[in-house]
Amino acid sequence: MMNPMTIRGSLIELVEVGPRDGLQSEGVILPTATKVELIERLIGAGLRRIEVTSFVHPKRVPQMADAEEVLAHLGRRPGVSLMGLVLNRKGFDRALAAGCDAIGMAVVASETFSMRNQGESTERSIASWLDIAAAAHAAGIRPNVTISAAFGCPFEGEVDPDRVIDIALRCAEAGPVEIALADTIGAAVPSQVSELFGRLRAHLPHMPLRAHFHNTRNTGIANAYAALVAGVRALDASVGGIGGCPFAPAATGNIATEDLLYMLNRMGVETGVAIDALIETARWLEAQLAKPVPGMLVKAGTFPRVQSR
Ligand code: MG
Repeated sequence: MMNPMTIRGSLIELVEVGPRDGLQSEGVILPTATKVELIERLIGAGLRRIEVTSFVHPKRVPQMADAEEVLAHLGRRPGVSLMGLVLNRKGFDRALAAGCDAIGMAVVASETFSMRNQGESTERSIASWLDIAAAAHAAGIRPNVTISAAFGCPFEGEVDPDRVIDIALRCAEAGPVEIALADTIGAAVPSQVSELFGRLRAHLPHMPLRAHFHNTRNTGIANAYAALVAGVRALDASVGGIGGCPFAPAATGNIATEDLLYMLNRMGVETGVAIDALIETARWLEAQLAKPVPGMLVKAGTFPRVQSR
């Protein structure tokens, strides 16, 4: 566990998931050119890790049906990691062919959610991950794994932390570049985040850890802070806080990247991302989606007012 006072001056990676996790839950399907412009704006703001799309069946997630086109328009970007989310080997093969330079695989911690979301048991999903990770390493692209529903399941309720740790340790055998724990439905509270990441850190002291939070119940930013203190060095967020939760139809989405960045900036944490450009992008996105985004900074602005980053 990190002393909160020593966080100042540390370096945290922001992983922008708006183009995937955010847009996939929006009712409006943006044109490919608009998605590409969104990603260009995010790169322009200084983001260096962006989850740009997912390679899943277009009938299940029509918002991501243009995955290959998005990648084709973007091309390779030196210094920027364009990540595709995959749920099985078929998705991985598509991501590889499309030119992703990083892939993320999700393994769902709860059995019922795993069957509903990826159509296979957690056990089979772990086997898929081991296969995909080996193929990714062989192809020279960086594989990471996210343990989804690690803090709560919409069908089973509480998720046993022992089970989450066990799944993470088995996934670690494939040599991921990073392991993430995701609060997919936005149920987590900071004490739970501290405990689970603390335990994972104790088991895997050298494994880079990432956290993924949704603001469904307004605990997202508090959870992000708890994760930082627990030693997490990368945080997922979506510009404007776009997205939602399929199990809570009226809920907001991921924690907003610019809201998280405001906290990190004021704490003296380095990210390399420009907050003004992010707020401007969130405003632009409101126009594209024709609705307000849930983020706070887009309404309140930064403090002090004159702040370039
Ligand atoms: Mg999510």
